[in-house]
Amino acid sequence: MEEYPRYLREKFEPFDPLELALKTERIVSFDSLRKYTSFYCVGVYGGISTGYTVGCCLRCVFCWVDWSRDFPEKYGQFYSPQEVFENLVNNAKKKRVKKLRISGGEPTLNWNHLLEVLRLVKTTNYLFILESNGILIGANSSYAKALEEFPNIHLRISLKAGTPEGFEKRTGAKGEFYELPFQAIAYLSKTKVNFHVASMSDPRLMPDFERQKMIEKLVKIGYRRYLEEEICDPYDTTKVRLNEAGWHIF
Ligand code: SF4
Repeated sequence: MEEYPRYLREKFEPFDPLELALKTERIVSFDSLRKYTSFYCVGVYGGISTGYTVGCCLRCVFCWVDWSRDFPEKYGQFYSPQEVFENLVNNAKKKRVKKLRISGGEPTLNWNHLLEVLRLVKTTNYLFILESNGILIGANSSYAKALEEFPNIHLRISLKAGTPEGFEKRTGAKGEFYELPFQAIAYLSKTKVNFHVASMSDPRLMPDFERQKMIEKLVKIGYRRYLEEEICDPYDTTKVRLNEAGWHIF
């Protein structure tokens, strides 16, 4: 059996992120249940109640997420959409925050689970921040449209690269899939969904010419809103992942 991709080493075999999404879903999902490791509130976004979910379809070298990303079979417990909703809201009430999110892994894995959580959130006045790498939204033309049902969400699509080569080098996924997050942005642009684009364009990771290509591509697909450019922070997991993949930036 083909090995399940973990964190990248210097000579890694690029993978198909859609296949990895399916493989990961088999580990972190069971019907509408999805694995989470914890629920807590943090100060980002001015205070937000967070469910830390397990599993992703990329293997970014700069990723800060704990080892549940690479070893999803070893971490987390299964929660129903109702349990996730209750944990998010109960913590939000305790800390008096007005925003909710699913973070850690990629929230669009087990799409039905996400939709059920969002339907419950829709009955409240909370703002739900949906952070996504855009791979599955770009691969499934109906996903962006389906999100229109939820007026109280704000989507943040995070770009990892501006070229196929950069995408493969930093996410481990085959370069031919680098268009998918841009496709997600193109789909979202045709909907009423609130969203903005972020990018890991830290100059230590993304060369200037690639950043320029990324911006040109965004303009070409009609995105002219705010671009949130991220800087890579030295979390312990990030440092190990970067070193193992041969990126010695810290
Ligand atoms: S940075 Fe985001 S998209 Fe990349 S591996 Fe980590 S969780 Fe997945």
